[in-house]
Amino acid sequence: MILRTQDKDVMGMTIERPRDLPKVDELLRDSRLNNAKETMGYVPVREAVRGILDAARQFLVENGDKPHPDAAYIDRAVQAGHGAGGNLLLSAQSLITAVLQKLDTEAIPGIRKVINATGAILHTNLGRAPLAKQALAAVRRSSEGYASLEFDLEENRRGQRTSSVETLLCRLFAIEAATVVNNNAAAVMLALSALCRGREVIVSRGELVEIGGRFRIPEIMEESGAILREVGTTNKTHLDDYESAIGDSTAALLKVHRSNFRMSGFTGNVVEFKLSELAHRHGLPLIYDLGSGLISAELSSLLTDEPTVHAALTSGADVICFSGDKLLGGPQAGIIIGRADLVGKMAAHPLMRAFRCDKMTLAALEATLTLYLDPDRAKEEIPLLVSALYDSAALRERTEKTAAALAQHGIGAQTISSAMIMGGGAAPEVTVDSWALAVNPGTLPIFSLETRLRAFDPPVLCRTTHDTLLFDLRTVSEEEERLLIFALVDAFDREADPL
Ligand SMILES: *Cc1c(COP(=O)(O)O)cnc(C)c1O
Repeated sequence: MILRTQDKDVMGMTIERPRDLPKVDELLRDSRLNNAKETMGYVPVREAVRGILDAARQFLVENGDKPHPDAAYIDRAVQAGHGAGGNLLLSAQSLITAVLQKLDTEAIPGIRKVINATGAILHTNLGRAPLAKQALAAVRRSSEGYASLEFDLEENRRGQRTSSVETLLCRLFAIEAATVVNNNAAAVMLALSALCRGREVIVSRGELVEIGGRFRIPEIMEESGAILREVGTTNKTHLDDYESAIGDSTAALLKVHRSNFRMSGFTGNVVEFKLSELAHRHGLPLIYDLGSGLISAELSSLLTDEPTVHAALTSGADVICFSGDKLLGGPQAGIIIGRADLVGKMAAHPLMRAFRCDKMTLAALEATLTLYLDPDRAKEEIPLLVSALYDSAALRERTEKTAAALAQHGIGAQTISSAMIMGGGAAPEVTVDSWALAVNPGTLPIFSLETRLRAFDPPVLCRTTHDTLLFDLRTVSEEEERLLIFALVDAFDREADPL
């Protein structure tokens, strides 16, 4: 946009002082806003006009006697939605442009699709596990119109909202009972409230962990009304530490998986099956906060330290809680499986109403779990598994092809060996050999390239080192790969020639 000195605006005014600014209604009548009024409605457009006029007024008050000779500066200010202009350069035309740009910016939703090339497969800040297409279809089916969420179609009466997911969980894990809540934090809270309120729960000091987002075991325990009985030391807890803490007021033993950290050196903790044996000898349940909900055998052989749901069951734990959106690769949910009497108590607890899942979650979870009934299908359809189990040779080849495509645009890139990061507070120490696309910034600043990539639509997120930008393609779809190349070409062009 070129702004000319003494530009006469559409309403026949030169805007030099605040009082020259057009009225809200006058700008609103401009035909360039018709489209916006039709698609967004009158009120948001009127608010945008007011906002731009306020900004322009303020600019004129502050800079009224200082004509700004730099047209490019004004252009950028207007583009930034500030609606500012030097007194010799401001016109109704530029105000309308600023209004349209402000409306454009505001129309961008808060939650946007991003391209995750960071190499972290489960990124809590990026929404953890992407859903399988079957899960997406189920979400759509359940929410587009009405759904039999709590309605028994055979009996023509009220049904139970989690019954189909529960049946599926029982089938998948050969267990007595299951239920589902909003997330695993809620599952643990519910277990402690429903089974241990007012009584003691014995936990190893080495497991008093904080998971991300301030989920701290001691604090959850306190909120639940259960009394924390810490045993052992930070680095070692023995079976007899638990045993000597068991008394009349003991409600349960609690095992918490150290999801996001590992201890090394002189350490020791009691294996789960010994713990369940001890609990059962005293007529107590063992509650196991497993964290991740790893089911896939293939993924388990990559993440050797990460316990599977099956292993947790074999260990004899009576109630097991895990997330739906970590290594299971489904929607955010807290899955509770175990003994029928205990799970039943939890399901009947008043907190269950506060923690219950919505129909979209239940539909997505049902579809994801259904895929696990056929492990080969799960491996092919669940994005988390596809990314984590990506064939190394295929990834290398794809990365090399992308590097070659970038070279055609004059961007230097190589395929380098790197490491896959599980992320999402799972398997913190596991490194799986991987390949990354290392893009050479040439003479351009890495920081601005990275910023430009983040400002792209859709935003592209990568890793940076002091001298390269790193892209991991295992979490990038073929379609996203094309966008990633566009984004890079665009970032290099703009950075090399900013105006
Ligand atoms: C992740 C995690 C939680 C919290 O699960 P959310 O589903 O994120 O609420 C609780 N306990 C452990 C051990 C975890 O790893």
